[in-house]
Amino acid sequence: MENPPLFIYSPRYIQFDYGRDHPLRLFRLKLAVDLMEHYGLLSPPVEKAKPEEIDDETLLTFHDPSYLETLKKADEEGIPYPSMGLGNSDNPVFPGMYTLSRLVVGGTMVGTLKALEGRRVFHIGGGMHHARPSKAEGFCYLNDIVIALKDALNKGAKVLYLDIDAHHCDAVQEAFYEDPRVLVVSFHQYGPDTYPGTGALEELGEGEGKGYNLNLPLNRYTEDETLWWAYQELVPPLLEAFQPDLLFTQLGVDAHKDDPLTTLFLTTGFYERLAQDLASRWQGPWMAVGGGGYDMVNVARIWTLMWGIMVGKEVPDTLPESFLRISRMEGYDGPTIRDVPGWSGALSHVPKTLKPRVEFLKEHCPLLG
Ligand SMILES: [Zn+2]
Repeated sequence: MENPPLFIYSPRYIQFDYGRDHPLRLFRLKLAVDLMEHYGLLSPPVEKAKPEEIDDETLLTFHDPSYLETLKKADEEGIPYPSMGLGNSDNPVFPGMYTLSRLVVGGTMVGTLKALEGRRVFHIGGGMHHARPSKAEGFCYLNDIVIALKDALNKGAKVLYLDIDAHHCDAVQEAFYEDPRVLVVSFHQYGPDTYPGTGALEELGEGEGKGYNLNLPLNRYTEDETLWWAYQELVPPLLEAFQPDLLFTQLGVDAHKDDPLTTLFLTTGFYERLAQDLASRWQGPWMAVGGGGYDMVNVARIWTLMWGIMVGKEVPDTLPESFLRISRMEGYDGPTIRDVPGWSGALSHVPKTLKPRVEFLKEHCPLLG
């Protein structure tokens, strides 16, 4: 294989810990890696790479120097800095947080560079789409996505950024709001009590970037076929019309029906269909990062299924006993990697909620219509 797929992971990730009661458990990454290994998804021709901690100079392309200074200090001294979002329940101060975050940025940076050579790359540790230039937000301290995309832009690339995390990619939207070289597409839960509160349909970009920022707000309980319908209406035509140099996907899986933090209703079926569609449609550079996902068993199952599709390898239904032991402890009693198919066969929600929103986006995006 001329451009073999590349998987990026650091065993160091699980040495860090957000704290006992924090929903983001880094062990989910190891669980996913072990499952991928079981199915042979990390064996040749697939290549593997370990990230290096990124340097300060690169971080400064997005983050403020005073914030980096403070983040480093908070890490070393264990002291909270509330004005910079450091030390609250979402973004605790914990040993090694600066190192971990720099490793994550390093992974997404090198992955994006490799993807631009014409490869498919997955960095499950990446996807920190909430981190602001001078503030930690939503479990994210440094924004690996924005930093890597800025670098790709500097190399002349035009990017389609697709974010399927249950939460809106607020900091990515903000970074490229006036830039038509990054077409931002986000599907996310939206409502008065949903974090982060941005991501309205009407947030379409500004200036030259107007019409290049597409938000599809989702109601609670949005399920597979409703979102699949919307995906088909939007993403394939956008890929076709925009002709990006790089497809960059944030594959947060917290929109799964069993995720403890959200109330969307997707099953593994949706994630597989999406990956299959992109994989068959898109032969060019593809950088994928992880993101949210707070049920460890689901995270491992879904990312394994998606990576299987990205590398073109069939994943059988049966889960290994070692994985089942852990999943039983986590409360998952299904014996298979796939959920029971969730397709009801009726597009009951589409006309009521999503259709007018999709129509609105088609009217306001110069690439659609
Ligand atoms: Zn999320």
